[in-house]
This record gives sequence, C-alpha cells and structure tokens, in this order.
Amino acid sequence: MEGKMKAALKAEAAPGATIALVDIPRIGPRDVLVKVKAASICGTDVHIYDWDAWAQNRMQVPRIFGHEFAGEVVEVGREVTQVVPGDFVAAETHITCGHCYQCRTGQAHVCRNVQILGVDRDGAFAQYIAIPEKVAWKTGKEIDHSVASIQEPFGNAVHATFAGEIADMTVAVFGCGPIGLWAVGLARISGASTIFAIEPNAKRLEIARNMGADYKLNPRELDPVHEILDVTDGLGVDVVLEMSGHPTAIRQGFKALRNGGRVSLLGIPSSMVELDLANDIIFKGATVLGISGRRIYDTWYRTRRVLESGQLDLKQVITHTLPFEQISEAIEIMKSGDCGKIILTFD
Ligand code: ZN
Repeated sequence: MEGKMKAALKAEAAPGATIALVDIPRIGPRDVLVKVKAASICGTDVHIYDWDAWAQNRMQVPRIFGHEFAGEVVEVGREVTQVVPGDFVAAETHITCGHCYQCRTGQAHVCRNVQILGVDRDGAFAQYIAIPEKVAWKTGKEIDHSVASIQEPFGNAVHATFAGEIADMTVAVFGCGPIGLWAVGLARISGASTIFAIEPNAKRLEIARNMGADYKLNPRELDPVHEILDVTDGLGVDVVLEMSGHPTAIRQGFKALRNGGRVSLLGIPSSMVELDLANDIIFKGATVLGISGRRIYDTWYRTRRVLESGQLDLKQVITHTLPFEQISEAIEIMKSGDCGKIILTFD
C-alpha cells in the first residue's frame, strides 16, 4: 500500500517520542500489513521512551516502537497462505528464527536470534504495521479491540501462572501491574485456594481484589512475609508469581515460599539481585522458573481458551484509553504507577 501514516517514532537517541508522518511500511512476500485498531503500552515501551541504558544498547533509531496490538489485515504478500485481508489479528511479538537449537527443539520462546517487534524492527504505535504471517494470531472479530490488543501481555501471565500446578494451591503474586493482576485472576478461575496480592499502589490492590485476591498486602504498611506465614500456619505458600522485578519483593517471595514450592520469576530486575541461595532455594528444594515471553504457540492456544471461556474479564485491568498521539501523556501515567493497563486508539 502506498502512502503516509502517522506513527509514534523514536526519531533520535534521546528520551521522548515524536508523532511523525512516515511511509506506510512495504511488505515482503511473507508479510501482512495490519491497520492497527488498538495497542497497549508495555514496561518495555517506557524503557524505550526514557532511552535508558538497555534501550541505548539494544535499539537503533529511527524506530517506531510499541508491540502489543490488534488490527485488521489490509494487504498480504504473494506467498502468504493462511491470512487474508479482512482478518482481525494480534501478534506474537517475538519473531523467532526457526533454525536455531531452541527453535528446532520446542523452545522457540527462548530463540537465540529473536527479533522483537517495536524493538528490533518497526512496531505498532502507528496506523499500520507490517508483520511476518507466521506471528499473526487470528482473533475473533467479536473480541473487543482493546482486549484483543492485550492478548500478548496476558499471555505472559498465562505462561507464568500455568508453568506449574495452580489448582488448590496457595499463591502469592508479588507486583500487581497488569500481568500480576491477570495472574491473580487466572489463579482464581483455576481453583487456587488462597491468593495473596502484594503491591504498594492502592488502586492496583483494589483491582487485585476485584480479580479475586483474598488478601491484599501493601508492603509499605506491613511485612508481607510475616502476613503470609501467619495465614498459612507458618508453612508458606505453594506458589510465588514474581511480577515486580523489585529486589526486596523477590527476596520476600523466596522467604514466603514453602519448602518444595514453585517460584515463577517474570518481573525483570534492573540490576543484580542478592539472594540467600542456601536457605531460600537449595535447602527449600524450591523449583525456580524463569518466564520469558510466551511459549510459541502453546501459550497462545491456552490464552484463546481462557478468553473463550468467558471466566475472566481482562478489561477490569484497563484503566486508561487515549489516542495514540498522546503517547507522552500515557507514558507519564504509566510511570506514576497509578494505573492498570493503558490502551492507545488509532481512529
Ligand atoms: Zn531460533
């Protein structure tokens, strides 16, 4: 498709973003062009916006950022076989190489040559995005645009929560940003017995209660380890879902875990974290799982089934919707922490 489109562009290697008029992306033979209907903002986008050390080392400019989105296919390359114009799609944002050891042995979610939309190639904070057909995830047109756009981060919660047993388990979710909040909901509908939500922001804690948390614990007001041990008769929880990346929360999570329990680590610390390995992992016989992205595409099928079951209202976690031209404002709201998921619109 020829023409221009509006995009949120990292035009320079510096903090901020520019709304610019750029060419609509050209598609290759195996690509599809998607007219973006909704996108959501990820913590990664904040790192990119702020141009922190990670972004400086990883990214090149100019680059359209943003990767969580849904939209309508408007054009397909000549070798595309499974997607047609008019399809409504979201996308797996990790474009895997298909030929490395991991890709060939069922571990494509940790592909060694992964390219990420909105990081390594142009992303979704634009009126159009070109993506490889293989990452397009067809989504029912009856699904709300905003919900369709959050399937990707919701998939992170699905992967983290279901990486081990959850039914009848006691579960502590440390960090209730959107992924933590969805994890609370997933644990609830999966039959977890008792769910603790640990989060300093009052608004997020309130959403956690609505998602099904039995205990909302503000670590600025009390010691979550003490509370969890108290409620579990000194045993600790069966499962810790670590969504904050905060060093103190990570250490508290291991302290609150029962012997033989499972920790899913998803939150990304900004630097090295010191742990009491001997007491909190080795002698505990803890199972520690690193959660990266979504299993490709097992997690997507599971996510689809959860959505179709209608048991979980993902929209409860959406607190703001703004036109994408207001990206700077949206990022500031994100940085305040006083929000759930923020959706950007493109009409
Ligand atoms: Zn690979």
